[in-house]
Amino acid sequence: MNKSSIVPETDERAALRDSVTALVSRYGHDYFVARAHAHEQPTALWKELGAAGFLGVHLPEEYGGGGGTLGDLLVVVEAASAAGCPLLMTVISPAICGTILARHASHEMKQRWLTGIADGSLKMAFAITEPDAGSNSHEITTTARPDGNSGEHADRGWRLAGTKYWTSGVDEADAILVVARSGSADSADGTRKPLSLFVVPTDSPGLTWQPIPAALVQPEHQFTVYFDDVALGPEALIGDDGNGLRQVFSGLNPERITAAAISNGISLYALEKATAYANERAVWKGVKIGAHQGVAHPLAECYIAVTQARLMAARAAELFDDGADAAEASNIAKFAAADASLRTLDQAMQTHGGNGLSLEYGLADLWFLARMLKTAPVSREMVLNFVAQRSLGLPASY
Ligand SMILES: Cc1cc2nc3c(=O)[nH]c(=O)nc-3n(C[C@H](O)[C@H](O)[C@H](O)COP(=O)(O)OP(=O)(O)OC[C@H]3O[C@@H](n4cnc5c(N)ncnc54)[C@H](O)[C@@H]3O)c2cc1C
Repeated sequence: MNKSSIVPETDERAALRDSVTALVSRYGHDYFVARAHAHEQPTALWKELGAAGFLGVHLPEEYGGGGGTLGDLLVVVEAASAAGCPLLMTVISPAICGTILARHASHEMKQRWLTGIADGSLKMAFAITEPDAGSNSHEITTTARPDGNSGEHADRGWRLAGTKYWTSGVDEADAILVVARSGSADSADGTRKPLSLFVVPTDSPGLTWQPIPAALVQPEHQFTVYFDDVALGPEALIGDDGNGLRQVFSGLNPERITAAAISNGISLYALEKATAYANERAVWKGVKIGAHQGVAHPLAECYIAVTQARLMAARAAELFDDGADAAEASNIAKFAAADASLRTLDQAMQTHGGNGLSLEYGLADLWFLARMLKTAPVSREMVLNFVAQRSLGLPASY
């Protein structure tokens, strides 16, 4: 595949992309799949990415980061994915948790957690989804109540109770960033306590989890997580009590943008494989299959879709980094990237004929990961709701 200048990239970003590609290519897709099948984490790769400064490229230098931007992390995540290692934990630990902590945590909390997230020496999972409150986060019931009779300021800490669902990577994480109800006051309509954010170490007594068997081939696994009256010190609270909704939003656009980067990386990886195969394989009188328009045109259409999705992701990151409202762009980027990657992976498999289904060719095992990104971290339908209501001004149905 030829290089294109459509998605703008500074010399520094291009160098960053080349460095990440070189590092991850030494591991490659076989390493990713082998870790997944062995139920092992990609520890060596993660450590190298951290040590090279790639995981914390967007985090403040004061806390061990590179002092760069989300646009830099977008390049890291996409390049790793395009090199065959679409690591979901890059979306969760540095992108969601790192950004929330960088923006809202105290100096002490940043020293305790952010430095490790930046250099890859620790990981943080993120838990917002609940069994009875999936897309509708306003209905979550996991609650942190002030410990003992310490009154409204919880200066003796908190007791956390509830259940989270589909939490990725808890088994490999040192802590979980938990979205819970708390707050000394009820919400404006008086019906619910407002949300707060907590960092819960994974070795906390009362915290347990159970794996959710899933079809995905990836080193990360998902869990139902139980908080059974988990005792938390006052220092576990991120930012302000009751301000969790506003605070969590600073992590959700990075989540969408880096999820788009995973999808776009899968697309680039699949296109690379498909074009290489179509330039080699000949089944009719020595003519390469790529010469047949029935093979070439669908791949060209995929390339157009992927290029549009990458451009949208770059724009969303640019808006976020400029401090502008990036919600519309992040949602559209995530939607476009997930759709493009499913289409591209499917077409790459089709280009390989029967070999598209063979595990040897490294495409079929990505199917459920690409498919998952149509549903998570935000579903296709919830993006369409956002666009219908916020971009088009149509009424909400729910
Ligand atoms: C592999 C994987 C990893 C995940 N990792 C994490 C994680 O680390 N942390 C975390 O907190 N969560 C995680 N999730 C959860 C994920 O964010 C949710 O699955 C997703 O947000 C959808 O929520 P739900 O599954 O409860 O679906 P539901 O909310 O039950 O929705 C079911 C279906 O109905 C549709 N729907 C719902 N409401 C509407 C509406 N108003 N209009 C139109 N359609 C609607 C949805 O789009 C969906 O198609 C993960 C999920 C998966 C599959």
